[in-house]
Amino acid sequence: MGMETERLITVLGSTGSMGTQTLEVMAAHGLRPYALTARRSADALEAQARRHKPALVCLEDEAAARPLKVALADTPVRVLSGRGGLLEAAGRSEADAVLNAMVGMAGLEPALEAVRAGKTLLLANKEALVCGGAVLMDAARTAGGTILPVDSEHSAIFQCLQAGRQGVRKLHLTASGGPFRGWSRDRLRSVTPDMALKHPNWDMGPKVTCDSALLLNKGLELMEARWLFDIPPERIQVVIHPQSIVHSLVEYEDGAYLAQLGAPDMRLPIQYALLYPRRAPCPGRSMDLTALGTLTFEPPDNEAFPCLSLARGAAARGGNAGAAFNAAAEAAVERFLAGDCGFLDVPERIASALESFVYIEEPTLEEILETDQSVRALLSSGHLSS
Ligand code: MG
Repeated sequence: MGMETERLITVLGSTGSMGTQTLEVMAAHGLRPYALTARRSADALEAQARRHKPALVCLEDEAAARPLKVALADTPVRVLSGRGGLLEAAGRSEADAVLNAMVGMAGLEPALEAVRAGKTLLLANKEALVCGGAVLMDAARTAGGTILPVDSEHSAIFQCLQAGRQGVRKLHLTASGGPFRGWSRDRLRSVTPDMALKHPNWDMGPKVTCDSALLLNKGLELMEARWLFDIPPERIQVVIHPQSIVHSLVEYEDGAYLAQLGAPDMRLPIQYALLYPRRAPCPGRSMDLTALGTLTFEPPDNEAFPCLSLARGAAARGGNAGAAFNAAAEAAVERFLAGDCGFLDVPERIASALESFVYIEEPTLEEILETDQSVRALLSSGHLSS
């Protein structure tokens, strides 16, 4: 696969679920990584460095990076560490594109670094846009960099939009509804972390899986779509589609809907972003139309799953409301997964945070980071616990 071997790609968050699937797709197409980064998984990063032979790796955790430097001393791989090392890896001029598969708000600054360096940013980290959408899109415009979606719904919309942007009326994001679709609020009170970590269709990391069970993930994706496709939130609809076959749709003014369908497998949207605009055989699962049976669609239950409406409110408000929403969501989900609060406390805490944070209409990056810190502090102080 000749021409791809020339391109060098940096993968941020390479040891997570998205990162490992990205390296699998890259290997299938002879794409070499320039840099690989992880938070603290030293053993996994060492194994990836030996197998995929990047020029450099970075572990954000300084303590974990020291033994990694020793472990990789017999190889030509350079080992960076800390937040500074991560930002350096994201902006290095040798890489042509950066795939950001990090989890959470931590992905915003490296995404900005890549975009400011004029790289193509393949974005799987939705929180970067949720928290810093205006700043990130503005930086991309200024530096002439491109942002391509990797999230399956946004990849689907992006694929549909290859037909043209003229006459778009609405975007329709599909959601599986997660493992608790159809449950009442009463029944949801009994949900434990173990139950929330089992997704019916998708193979994803723990945070995204839990976010999906709350329909919180779809709220983040609504804000992500708002920035990626420059469309007001009221023109983005969410529809529950339990089979996860239709990955999202674009509705045009003449009543035509375009959709992208496929097996629920992240390797296709990853590959589409990596090879765009080229299509090629993909190592992911294939789909048999005749085995699908029935595809169904239903409205989301906003009473049982309030995170989506809360996200819609934050999206409509704009400014630093996305950052406040995300900080509250990350902190509350962390507490829930640690067994420190209930499933229904997550939306409660997000709602409280959205009532008490200090609103800024056009926040700078520094103000976004401050909003993130202050909302987390507010939640951990217990003032907002329900
Ligand atoms: Mg998604």
